[in-house]
Parts: sequence; structure tokens; C-alpha cells
Amino acid sequence: MTRDFSSLHHQSLTQLRAALDTKKISALELAEYFLVRAETNTDLNAFLHIDRDLTLAEARAADAQIASGNITALTGIPIAHKDIFVTQQWRTTAGSRMLENYVSPFDATVVEKLKTAGMVCLGKLNCDEFAMGSSNENSAFGAVKNPWDRSRIPGGSSGGSAAAVAAGLAPAATGTDTGGSLRQPAAMCGITAIKPTYGTVSRYGMVAFASSLDQGGPMAKSAEDCALLLDAMIGFDAKDSTSVATLDKYKTPISARLLTAFALTSRADASVSRPLAGVRIGVPQEFFGEGLSSEIAQAVDAALAEFEKLGAVRVEISLPRTSLSIPVYYVIAPAEASSNLSRFDGVRYGHRAAEYKNLADMIGKSRAEGLGAEVKRRILVGAYVLSHGYYDAYYLQAQKVRRLISQDFQEAFKKCDFIMGPVAPTTAWKMGEKSNDPVAMYLEDIYTLGVSLAGLPGMSVPCGFGHNGMPIGLQIMGNYFEEARMLAAAHQYQLATDWHTRSPEAFQ
Ligand code: GLN
Repeated sequence: MTRDFSSLHHQSLTQLRAALDTKKISALELAEYFLVRAETNTDLNAFLHIDRDLTLAEARAADAQIASGNITALTGIPIAHKDIFVTQQWRTTAGSRMLENYVSPFDATVVEKLKTAGMVCLGKLNCDEFAMGSSNENSAFGAVKNPWDRSRIPGGSSGGSAAAVAAGLAPAATGTDTGGSLRQPAAMCGITAIKPTYGTVSRYGMVAFASSLDQGGPMAKSAEDCALLLDAMIGFDAKDSTSVATLDKYKTPISARLLTAFALTSRADASVSRPLAGVRIGVPQEFFGEGLSSEIAQAVDAALAEFEKLGAVRVEISLPRTSLSIPVYYVIAPAEASSNLSRFDGVRYGHRAAEYKNLADMIGKSRAEGLGAEVKRRILVGAYVLSHGYYDAYYLQAQKVRRLISQDFQEAFKKCDFIMGPVAPTTAWKMGEKSNDPVAMYLEDIYTLGVSLAGLPGMSVPCGFGHNGMPIGLQIMGNYFEEARMLAAAHQYQLATDWHTRSPEAFQ
């Protein structure tokens, strides 16, 4: 008898856990189910590398663990990794020709941790080259299509991750966020993602873009699923010099606190129907100004009204340097990128030109051939702002304003528990629409960059659709190490609404 698994891609990680525990399905069958979905939907270009033998071997190992009874909440559940996390068994390209055939001698800490938790790797996901971009059109291996409308971008740089989860090709994925790359593609594909506080998830084995900003995190269908994944990803790592010591806050799993975080407010008016009683939501006026599409403003406003129904109150706040976050980020991130990417010299890693006259010519040609246009633009900008004579005028100024942006957030958090607003000013645009105008593309990042520059946690939660049928995301920003409360608030919102359960027609 063949068993019917037809709707497994609509199930939450908790439901998949139950199906595995009650032997309704094996880890092997589950891996096979998602592999087939990934293999039959290649036109999205979400996956870069699939190797079914490797995946099925991991699934068999997970089944053996399940049989032995030694399991975690995630044992046997499939996940796919953004191709910026190095893997020993799958190639790691970071979306670049430079690393087209690169195989890492080790697994990234995040990959290792999720594997230790028993998760089964489905393969590697497409992304913008070295995570530079907002549309996934900068991948050397072709753009990713948005599953809601294949003529549109999925967002970036974790576009492959967002598209794979939205289309049900993977129940969960990893992503990274330097200036919005977990939150913005999640918003544009209608899924949930969280960028944790800088330093909580190890950067070891994450191909570096801008080291003071890069942070890995989970992407899935709901806050509940993200909490389970984050629990397995967080933790001190001696191999990452900016890793935060494991705080008491993280000792009780976040996933176990989803329903209790607000009951703990001990407010008399907290109740089942008003679980967020007394929670103050800061709404930054600067996030609702010129450039924001009116339908996004409306969807975010409706989401805020829903939070009020749950007991929260709105507070007006100001993040006065919001517009400065764009020039500041686009000085600091390229500066760090120009330094990080100097390792791609044709000697130590990746592509080497076939013919050259001498060492300098070899390095020049290898980089010219191996790196794409946007990456080169960033290296040039970065080298310029760090150069003698311009360092003080650009890089140092940007660092000073970065500090002021962080202080603005701390001022705001004196008045509120969370800050909420839009993730991006527009819904997913048509492929090619902004490709020839890098500045127009950079402006799309206005609402996500502040959190990144301050190292704060931020998440994206589906909250509606535009007239074009494209998803809209609500951004929830919290103070340092407040992931549990942010996920708990998002979970309450998702218990009361069903935006996160919608999936694209073509992938039912
Ligand atoms: N869109 C931003 C950039 O192009 C952010 C990318 C990211 O977060 N990795 O740099």
C-alpha cells in the first residue's frame, strides 16, 4: 500500500515531529518527499546543489536515532541551507563564479549544530553573490523566481531560502542578514524569519560579507517553527571572536516559552483573549513617510490593530536617523566587504585565470573573471572609503553616525517593548525593474538597515497582500537578546490571524 503524504509541505515542524514520532512517516520518506518537490520545481532556481544520496544517508541516520529514542525536537526534519554556509559534503559557492567548485574542509557551526540536532540537509540554496543584493538577481547562477509570481523577484539576498520555504520545497531554511537579507525576502515571499541579536548565532563558516553586521538565522512558515530552529542555532562558539557568551536568557528553550512569555507580565488584565496586555509597541513615524506604498502602510496598520486587540498599546516613537542608515550602511558594509573579499586572489581559494603573465596579472584576471558587477562595485566603494584622505570623511563619519543610530534605538526602547513597522517600502518588484539602478535597489533597504547597524534582533511576519497578490511583511524589532519575547508576540499574532498559512496557488 502506498501512503498518501500529499500535504506534508503545509505542516508545521511540530506537526512533522508528531508524524515522525507516531511512525506515520519516516525521516527517509520525509526527505524523499521534499527532494521530489525540490527536483520537480527547478524553474524557481531556488536550489543550487541537490545530492539525493547525501540527503538520504542523513535521513537514514535520523531514522536510526529516532529508533534509538535519542532525539531532539528537530530529529528527522529536513532543512536546506543558504549557499553562504560552508558544507563539507555539498559545494559552497556563495552565489559566485569565484567559488563555483569550492568544497569546504569543514561545516559551518550553524550547519553542524542543526545536523547534531538531527536535521536532514536537503541541499544548498541560491542567494545573491556574497549576499550582496536585495533581489537575488546578483547570483552568478541566475535569479531566483518568486513562487507567488514567477515574473517577480523573491527578495534578497536569502532569496533561494525564502522561495524554497514559500513553495514548500523545504519546511525550513537557513539564511543570513547583513542589512535585511533574512527579513526582506521573508516579507516578499510571505514567510517568517528572525535575525537574532548580533553575536548570538555563530558566524564561523558563514562566507563573510561585512563581519560587524553578518548574522545567521532561521526562515520558516511561522514564529513557532523559527523558535524551534533558533533554539538549535544559538550558542557560544569559541571559533567566532564576536560570539556572545550563552546568556541565562537562552538556557530555557525559546520554543518552550512561546506561550508563557507574556503570561509572565503578571498584569491583572493579561488573559487568554488579551495575552499581550500592557505590551507597548513603538511605531516610528519615520517608517511611514514618503516612499512607503499605501497598501503596505494599510496592511501594517491593520496588523498593529490586531496587536491592540490582543492587549498591546501603540506608542509614537521616533528613529530620527532612519534615512541616514542607507548612506551609513553603504559605506560600512562595502568597506568591510573590500577587506573580507581580498582573500579571493586566485591563490588560496576558488577561481584562477587560465592564462596570465605574472602574479599581479593572475590576481587581477582571476578577480575580474570570478566576481560579478555588484561585488566589484562594493569592493571599489569600500577601497575608496577606506583610502588615505577619504577614511576620515566617509568611513569614520559613518561609524560615528552608526553609534548615533544605535542610541536612537535605545532612546526608543525606553518608551516601548517592541518597535513595529514595514519591512520594505514596496512588495516584490518585477525581475529586471531595478537591476540597472543600484541606488534604487539600495533605497529598498531603508527599514531593515537600522536594526542591522545597531546589532538588534528583527523579524518579519506575513501580514497581508498587495493588489498584485504579493505578500507583505510586518517587521518586529526588539531590544538586545529579546528574541523569545519577539517570537512570543509574533506567535500570538499568528494564533489570531492566518496570513502565515497562505501559500502560493501554483505550489498547493
Ligand atoms: N540588501 C542589502 C545589501 O545589498 C543587504 C544584504 C544582506 O543583508 N546580506 O547589502
